Amino acid sequence: MSLKTAEEYVKSLRALKIRAYVAGERVDSIVDHPMVAPHINTVGKTYELAHLPEYREVMTAVSHLTGERVHRYTHIFQTPDDLVKKLQMLRLLGQVTGTCFQRCVGLDALNAVYATSFEIDAGEGTDYHQRFLDYLRWVQAEDLMLAGAMTDPKGDRSKRPSEQADPDQFVRVVDRRPDGVVIRGAKLHNTGGINSHEVVVMPGTGLQPDEADYAIACAVPADADGVIFIFGRQSNDSRKLEDGCDIGNPRFGVVGGEAMVVFDDVFVPNERIFMNGETAYAATLVNYFATWHRANYGGCKGGNADVLIGATAKMAKMLGTDRNSIVRDKLVEMVHLNETTYASAIGASAMGSALPCGSCMVEPMMANTVKQNITRNVYQIGRLSHDLAGGFIATLPDAKSLENPEIAKYVEKYHTAKPEYDVMERIRFGRYIENATSVTTLVEAMHGAGSPQAQRIVMMGQANFDEKIAMAERVIHSDDNVPGVQLPSPSFRASD
Ligand code: SF4
Repeated sequence: MSLKTAEEYVKSLRALKIRAYVAGERVDSIVDHPMVAPHINTVGKTYELAHLPEYREVMTAVSHLTGERVHRYTHIFQTPDDLVKKLQMLRLLGQVTGTCFQRCVGLDALNAVYATSFEIDAGEGTDYHQRFLDYLRWVQAEDLMLAGAMTDPKGDRSKRPSEQADPDQFVRVVDRRPDGVVIRGAKLHNTGGINSHEVVVMPGTGLQPDEADYAIACAVPADADGVIFIFGRQSNDSRKLEDGCDIGNPRFGVVGGEAMVVFDDVFVPNERIFMNGETAYAATLVNYFATWHRANYGGCKGGNADVLIGATAKMAKMLGTDRNSIVRDKLVEMVHLNETTYASAIGASAMGSALPCGSCMVEPMMANTVKQNITRNVYQIGRLSHDLAGGFIATLPDAKSLENPEIAKYVEKYHTAKPEYDVMERIRFGRYIENATSVTTLVEAMHGAGSPQAQRIVMMGQANFDEKIAMAERVIHSDDNVPGVQLPSPSFRASD
């Protein structure tokens, strides 16, 4: 069994000599930095829960390569049941942490590179897949946390990678050597990047035949020469430097501790390269990654929303509004919105089907629908929470006011609602709601795994309007024999 404990994960991060910057300053130990530590605690839960017998089936899986039980975060999806269990794992972790636990990006990157390297080898006679299998065995044996790096800066959005004034706006190969390549560029919004062991680099877009230098997929150690992490800023992040009740989610933070990763001429040896110039397969890899990751959001955001709904319901109790039928109906609406996306994600997983490599892909129309709804429902659930929690979450004096005896008595007295509830409890729950519905959280729901329009493009391609027209013609004409109209197959899916 190769399952790290949370303590071993933290110890392994300490051993890495990464080059990281937080709030503009070089940081020697990200593990001890108050802006980063909550995100590390969150990942620690993914390691911790895998050791608990009650979560074994959800948090671990049997490796199809070795027959060993491995962390589900290093597993290649074999069946629809694997995909469903992944969703259950995400909802569980969302409920335990109330935030993003980061490892899913690396998991989906592993699966996307696994599937694509197989197809490149089949089509081009290369040996990327075998290299990747060796890498995967090591990742599983060491139970590593991987950062999936896909989003390029992109520069001028009206131009292709090869047309940019600055060719580094998309990660590219700048030197080819007998033993490997040198890459340059950056990837943005890397969830958990700063506290990962490895960075899996993938192309960020489909490519033309003359863009071979941009068709690079590889794995880079987080502390490789030339890799630089620049930590992203979040709403309310400087509150982590305080030690009071304003932090909101003090142990786990909000969202995934995203970082910009710069590749300043990084050498990648051949054994860590899984695509190198095969432009025709870049779009395949991007599509595989995005489709798996879009379904995830029904799980992780489902768990996060469970916590938010709980905090909002508790707030209603503290305010004395919990028996009001309108308040109860709004809480039900929050549940309805949340379960809608979870159900779609479970559906996308249950309807998964085999890829050429044998691994299992979620049903794409449902997966994209999940993410499309997340870009709305997370905002809507947050709106309802704001509605029920009241304006004080935006106007409450800061924690220091509660430490000043001259004014603390007023802040406490005039923020006490039902007297049987401690005012500090109301303040802590209010701060949690404020943080869990902050700008960073909402924007992540909007753009993580692709912007809303990216999903709609896929949905348009999958919608099969001609077949829907045929269905309408058959029903309206009451005639199964309308020329050219076929009965739908019993296994019809939206994307067939
Ligand atoms: Fe995982 Fe959700 Fe975070 Fe993506 S946003 S890494 S799916 S927890």
